Amino acid sequence: MPTANVRVLEAGDRPGGTAWSLREAGFVVEIGPNGFLDTKPTTLNLSREIGLTDRLVQSSESAAKNRYLFLGDQLKPLPAGFTAFLQSDLLSWRGKLSLLWERFRGKRTDTTDESIDAFVRRRAGNEAADVFADALVTGIYAGDPKLLSLPACFPRIAELEREYGSVIKGFAGAAKKRRAEAQKQGLPYQRAGKMWSFQGGMRTFVEGLTARLRQAPEYGVAIRTVRRSADSGMWTVHGEGNEAFEADAIVLTCPAWKQAELLAEADEALAGQIAAIPYNRVAVIALAFRQGDVPTSTEGFGFIAPQNTRRDLLGVQWCSSIYPNRVPDGTVLLRAMAGGWHRADVVDWDDAKLLAAIRAELRLAMKITAEPIFNKIIRWNRAIPQYHLGHLERVARIEASAVRHPGLLLGGNAYHGVALNDCTEQGRVLAERVANFLRHV
Ligand SMILES: Cc1cc2nc3c(=O)[nH]c(=O)nc-3n(C[C@H](O)[C@H](O)[C@H](O)COP(=O)(O)OP(=O)(O)OC[C@H]3O[C@@H](n4cnc5c(N)ncnc54)[C@H](O)[C@@H]3O)c2cc1C
Repeated sequence: MPTANVRVLEAGDRPGGTAWSLREAGFVVEIGPNGFLDTKPTTLNLSREIGLTDRLVQSSESAAKNRYLFLGDQLKPLPAGFTAFLQSDLLSWRGKLSLLWERFRGKRTDTTDESIDAFVRRRAGNEAADVFADALVTGIYAGDPKLLSLPACFPRIAELEREYGSVIKGFAGAAKKRRAEAQKQGLPYQRAGKMWSFQGGMRTFVEGLTARLRQAPEYGVAIRTVRRSADSGMWTVHGEGNEAFEADAIVLTCPAWKQAELLAEADEALAGQIAAIPYNRVAVIALAFRQGDVPTSTEGFGFIAPQNTRRDLLGVQWCSSIYPNRVPDGTVLLRAMAGGWHRADVVDWDDAKLLAAIRAELRLAMKITAEPIFNKIIRWNRAIPQYHLGHLERVARIEASAVRHPGLLLGGNAYHGVALNDCTEQGRVLAERVANFLRHV
């Protein structure tokens, strides 16, 4: 690895972007991600590498098992196993059979892009698409399953169909492989899919990473333009305050719409491609109640309100059950999400209207009528990039254009996955690319 002088320029007054935890009145409130899954090991491995092994926390057992859907003004359990699925009333018998028939349906030979909605309808039937696909997409993308691209949003699922001919067969096959691998290594078999965080919240991870930098990030530096001199080959980065920084290579990891603004002068066509990646809007509303004021059990992860129900909220996470010891004794912390692709209007509501709407939903779903003892509202006007149909081709075009600018690298969650795991994976890829580039400067 060549020795590089790395400068991190950050517009805000703290690191982490959407990944940050507020610590107030004894509550830990996540303003963005609530954790990361172990389906991909990248964030877990990085956490261990930077010495945070002792501060990692796994979500509670109940959070892994109990999840609900908010349908018809009531919470319905999401089946956690085969018998529960057969007994559940989420799908009709016809709908259940259609889903189970997935393993016998032939695979698609057409290689054009396909929406998540079309994929699930084709493989598992209309009811599975309306109930499960919408809920899954609401929970991760808060987007429209008819617009989102399956191979861009869920590459693993597309791969399972290609490899095994069926997603159900694919999951079973992958679990068998993991079991055999664990046995070979003499380790107990663990199902992947658990959620992880840190003592003190996601902020612990961000602070851990920041502390490892040789040079502390420079805060309050909002980049305005980036330009490369054809003569020297050096990049000049200008901040809002007209400060200038020179570099051999630059990595832009601000949101896509901002990357587009910064690159507009250097390459208008590239900037146009990047600017076309849409974002949704999301409001996070954290509410705490006295334990005695919450009549419904909160043992579980929480609930999702599928977006086709067009409710005033997208779902609620039962934070104090997911990660215990993050609230004062005798209290319950809930985190509602609202907005998303179809209800962006909600994000514009003032605090009083938003709180009243969420409380009305909580009254229906969880019979909570009491006033919250604490609340926090965070609005993300551009929350999560939406990988719409054509996203993969767009990213390929963006990357092909970016190559024409030696030393320019583009990262962040707009290209290769929105989960924290995808971002940590991409971070390593980008670091290697920078190192390679610097070897040849
Ligand atoms: C509400 C919410 C909940 C989520 N929940 C989960 C979850 O549970 N699990 C999960 O895996 N993922 C989750 N995600 C997704 C995940 O958090 C994000 O994809 C990831 O954190 C994005 O990281 P990023 O660095 O690409 O972008 P950001 O976090 O947006 O960071 C961009 C940074 O660029 C800075 N910046 C912007 N403009 C400039 C400029 N001109 N000059 C300098 N700096 C600039 C910003 O200040 C910011 O610090 C969630 C996201 C949201 C919004």
